[in-house]
Amino acid sequence: MKVAIENKAGESDKEEQAIQFNVLFYTEPDLRRTCHKVKFVAEELKQTIMEMAKTMLAKEGVGLAAPQVGINKRFFLFVPNPDRYHDAEEIEVCVAINPQILEREGESIIFEGCLSYPDYVAKVNRALKIKVRYQDMDMNRVEEEFIGLAARVFQHELDHLDGILFVDRMIQDTLKHVDELAEDEEKEKTDKV
Ligand code: ZN
Repeated sequence: MKVAIENKAGESDKEEQAIQFNVLFYTEPDLRRTCHKVKFVAEELKQTIMEMAKTMLAKEGVGLAAPQVGINKRFFLFVPNPDRYHDAEEIEVCVAINPQILEREGESIIFEGCLSYPDYVAKVNRALKIKVRYQDMDMNRVEEEFIGLAARVFQHELDHLDGILFVDRMIQDTLKHVDELAEDEEKEKTDKV
């Protein structure tokens, strides 16, 4: 997932870093596949995850799913504290392997974007609070609860593993270019996704 409004100075410097992966564009058929369960994490996959983290941060993403870099496996990277993304000196990145949502509660309708759909955002209705289960890099089982933006990131990335994009779930006629959004909602702080 991608922050809705980019207002960070020095962003272009970041993008000049060597990035291993290209993020697939939303028209790529590879983004529409259902991904396969991860059975074990080999050393090579750990390296891949590290490179994906670099790619995600260089593009100011708060989540990046394996199919977005052409890997047909059920895992994604996410920033567990996306609300503090622009304030934090060090950004924590987690990996969720074979993730599932156990419980959903409430709803939230705000704009979100996607690294595979650059420069556009749309309003998507997501559960406000979720209880999830996944495996970490060492295949240990983790159960956690997320609320707000973190919950939204998790739901967005999990959708990618089933070939679903945010535009499939968007509320009709809410797709906007980020510049348009900035103009429309200059005063109202928009949640970044
Ligand atoms: Zn996405």
